[in-house]
Amino acid sequence: MEKVLVFGHKSPDTDSICSTLAMANLQTKLRGEEVIPYRLGELNEETKYALKTFEVEEPQTLTSVDENCDVALVDNNEFSQSVSGIEKAHVKMVVDHHKIKLETVEPIYFITEPLGCTCTILYKLYKQNEVDIDSQTAGLMLSAIISDTLLFKSPTCTEQDKEIA
Ligand code: MN
Ligand code: MN
Repeated sequence: MEKVLVFGHKSPDTDSICSTLAMANLQTKLRGEEVIPYRLGELNEETKYALKTFEVEEPQTLTSVDENCDVALVDNNEFSQSVSGIEKAHVKMVVDHHKIKLETVEPIYFITEPLGCTCTILYKLYKQNEVDIDSQTAGLMLSAIISDTLLFKSPTCTEQDKEIA
């Protein structure tokens, strides 16, 4: 079985970490592969609080990847915001809500919508694939939506973010 590493952007925010965990959970259930969540830096206090509240462990830190790594990116699609060595790794999948910055050498799954939070898109992927969301993951996803939309007040917040939260 191929191992896939999932991670968000450097200086991780709550969406980067929670979408990493939700993505790893979803892909593990869908693909039956080993899909491992990582973080690219120290967690902020808000993210620590969310993980503590829903009793989820912090992902391990990832410092670099190489040409032997299959990776999935969440909450960013920009190598300048990613881990060292990312140019050499195999980007297999992206789930993101930012503008598109990525050029790939091979065809990939690239899932993007102009919504307020990556976790909103992930919720839709769970539903499309008929995968149940456990209460811990649901709690993390809600935390990310609240955080990224600044409690539904950000200009990027959409009706879908509110409804799905
Ligand atoms: Mn982010
Ligand atoms: Mn985000």
